[in-house]
Amino acid sequence: MIQTNSHMNNSKKQVKAVGLISGGLDSTVAAKIMKDLGVDVYGVYFAMPWGCCDKTKAIEAAMQLEIKFITLQLDERYLEVVKNPKFGYGSAMNPCVDCRIHMFTRARVYMDQIGADFVFTGEVLGQRQMSQMRHSMKWIEEGSGLQGRLVRPLCAQLLEPTIPEQEGLIDRQKLLRLNGRSRREQVLIAQANNITGYSQPAGGCLLTNQDFARRIKDTFVHGYRNFRETIALKWGRHFRINENFKVILGRDEEENTSLIRYAHSDDIIMQMPDQMGPTLILKGTNPPNEILALAAGLIQKFSRYKNDSPQELKYWYVKDKNTVYSINANLISEVEIEKLRV
Ligand code: SF4
Repeated sequence: MIQTNSHMNNSKKQVKAVGLISGGLDSTVAAKIMKDLGVDVYGVYFAMPWGCCDKTKAIEAAMQLEIKFITLQLDERYLEVVKNPKFGYGSAMNPCVDCRIHMFTRARVYMDQIGADFVFTGEVLGQRQMSQMRHSMKWIEEGSGLQGRLVRPLCAQLLEPTIPEQEGLIDRQKLLRLNGRSRREQVLIAQANNITGYSQPAGGCLLTNQDFARRIKDTFVHGYRNFRETIALKWGRHFRINENFKVILGRDEEENTSLIRYAHSDDIIMQMPDQMGPTLILKGTNPPNEILALAAGLIQKFSRYKNDSPQELKYWYVKDKNTVYSINANLISEVEIEKLRV
C-alpha cells in the first residue's frame, strides 16, 4: 500500500523531479513529458567506468529540453555491485537489476538532497528482458528505496499509480502506456517535438560484451588496487601470464597514451627502443627476468619486428621513469600467445 505524506495539498508548489538522462530516445522523451507537465527537472547522467551512454548526447538533450543537468560518476561502490550482484547477470557480466538499483539509489539520495518529489526514468515495460519486466521493475523500485516515488512516464498507465500521481503533482492521464521493444511511439513523439540527435539504443554497455566480461572476471579473480585500474580494462590487448602477472598492450597510439595515463605507480612500462609498436603495461610485484622477457616478446610479436631476431627492449617503473632497464625478448609462438590472452 502506497503511503502519502506531507506532499498532500501542495499543488501550487513547484514540483521538482530527478530524471535519469542517458542521451537516448526514451529518457529524453520521458524528460520532455515531465517538462510539459510543468515539472522542474533535474537531469542526472550516470558516468560508467567504461563508458556506456553518450554523455555528449545527454548534455545536448538537457540543453534542448532546457532542464538542469548533473553527472554522477559510478565508482568503487559500483564495482562491488558488478562483482556480487544479488539478482545475477544477464548475457555477460551485466548485472542489470542491481546496476539500476545502485543508480536509482543514488538518484534517490540526490532527490532527498535537493528536496525533489520523485525520480523518473525512460523505462518501458517489457522493453528489456532482465530489467524491464514487471517483477524486476518492482524489485528495482523497492531495492532503491523509491517505493511509490519512481515514475516511469512512458508506461505509467500500465503500472500502479505512484505517490506523485495520487497526490495530483502530475497528471496520470498525461502519462503513457507504452509496452515492448518497439520505439515507434517514442520516435513519433520526438519528431513532433523537434527532439533530435538522441543516441541509438543499446550496445553501449561493455558489461554486455563477452570479451570485456572475460577481462573483468579475470580482474575480480586476481584483484585490483584502485578504481583507475579497472577503468583501463577498456583499452588494449590483455594477457595473463600467470596468477601474479598480467600484461596489457595498446593497439594504437591513443590506447598507448591512455594505458600509460591510467597505469598504477607500481606497474612497469615497456616499449621498443624506437617506440614503434605497442606500449606494454606489466602488472604484478617484482617480476623475475623470465616474465620481463616474455612481456618483451609479446611487444615484439605485435610490432613490425615480429619476424626479426629477439630485440632488446626498454622498461621502467611508472613511479621512476628516469631509471630505465633493458631486457631481451623471449619470442613465444602465436599458439602460446593465444593461450595467454584474456
Ligand atoms: S546494460 Fe549495463 S548499464 Fe545498462 S542496466 Fe545493464 S549493466 Fe547497467
